[in-house]
Amino acid sequence: MFSSEDTIVAIATPPGRGGLGVVRISGPAAGDVARRMLARGAPLEPRHATFTRVRSARTPEGIRTVDEVVVTWFPAPHSYTGEHVVEVSAHGSPVILQAVVRSAIDAGARLARPGEFTFRAFLNGKLDLVQAEAVADLIAAATPLQARVAFDQLEGSLTTQIQTLDAELLDLVARLEASLDFPDEGYHFIDPADIANRIDGVIETLDTVLNDAARGRMIRDGATVVIAGRPNVGKSSVFNALLGHARAIVTERAGTTRDLVTETTELDGLAVTLVDTAGLRETIDVAEQEGVWRGIRARGVADLVVVVLDRGEALTEDDRRLFEETAVRRRVVVANKCDRAAAWERDGSICVSATNGVGIDQLRLAIVRALTGEEHLRDTAAISNVRHTVLLEGARTSLDHAREAVMCAHVSEEFVLADLHAARVSLGEVVGAHTSEDLLRHIFERFCVGK
Ligand code: GDP
Repeated sequence: MFSSEDTIVAIATPPGRGGLGVVRISGPAAGDVARRMLARGAPLEPRHATFTRVRSARTPEGIRTVDEVVVTWFPAPHSYTGEHVVEVSAHGSPVILQAVVRSAIDAGARLARPGEFTFRAFLNGKLDLVQAEAVADLIAAATPLQARVAFDQLEGSLTTQIQTLDAELLDLVARLEASLDFPDEGYHFIDPADIANRIDGVIETLDTVLNDAARGRMIRDGATVVIAGRPNVGKSSVFNALLGHARAIVTERAGTTRDLVTETTELDGLAVTLVDTAGLRETIDVAEQEGVWRGIRARGVADLVVVVLDRGEALTEDDRRLFEETAVRRRVVVANKCDRAAAWERDGSICVSATNGVGIDQLRLAIVRALTGEEHLRDTAAISNVRHTVLLEGARTSLDHAREAVMCAHVSEEFVLADLHAARVSLGEVVGAHTSEDLLRHIFERFCVGK
């Protein structure tokens, strides 16, 4: 997919202006490229910051100085990519950084493709696939919790868990193979009950990891929460109260919200996209009708529905219909306008007054709990990536088969072995031990140039 014989260059810092901008060069010729483009003639000292200048290539007007820079030389293998790397810190102007890149290209480097630095780190064993994916997640993180979870993954917490499980399976495989190799002696290196127990142990750990995956996914991808209710119950007011500022228009007239109003906010570290919908009611107004339909469609794809009811008024047929329609959904029921005299009581609803803020904190907690199963999100690692979940589920299925085969007296140990092997292949794919080129391309395409 990528050749790793070339020396590559790219701007490593985000586009735009800043105090500093960094250009990274990696590959076998990184040292030579640096020597050609820098004013300093003497070799660079490893891992030392050196103040020097970047020069342009020879032009008809001669050689110009591009910028004053600080250069750091990381000889292989002690660098991000595991190759020779030179990092050039220049002034953070796009024009200057592009000129530095140009100068590196004139000195023999080629422009890096998206994710190519991290891909080389993966090839050189500096990172496994889980960690490479964590780099992309870390860069994409929008909340501190997302960053924390991605960082744990980068530090190798999932990798370590998988390695521990794999070591246990490898030990079982070795013992079973030894038993198969010496059939005549009728000697068993391990008895079936023991194998079954140990497989159960691995399954249990896998289940814990998988159960935690829902939390991880919510943290990584965020959730969509739709606010539904009949007109005038206070949906827009609840929406604004959750956001902490007035985004949706609040009026006394029913039917003011005619389209979906969407805003992303953070609830206890969780990135939540709130959707305010048009009030649900029979209507002859075409625009309002379309708004109602959009609201219904949004509810269909939401991770959670917040059903808003007006506690100051008797429940209506529309309220009841919405209540029934959302019964099978993950939902939180809000009794809004609790500052008014209660016209009805209902267990399980959260009393809120959107206008004076009463109950909004409880509502936030209830939303987080309904989405993740916990009130306060733990900042420990949880798998957050569908690819990982699917592979771990595959390993779980293979182990289930192995477990069944062990307990059948007439099933040969070879079947157990085949299932254990299959489970190990799935675990290995998570960290990238066996991975197709297509998958690698797909993963590294998520990166931006310079990473
Ligand atoms: P929506 O049509 O469901 O989006 O409802 P709005 O948020 O536009 O609110 C409708 C009316 O109810 C407005 O006049 C709000 O000021 C009022 N309202 C909303 N929440 C409360 C509340 O908690 N208490 C009281 N007393 N009035 C509220």
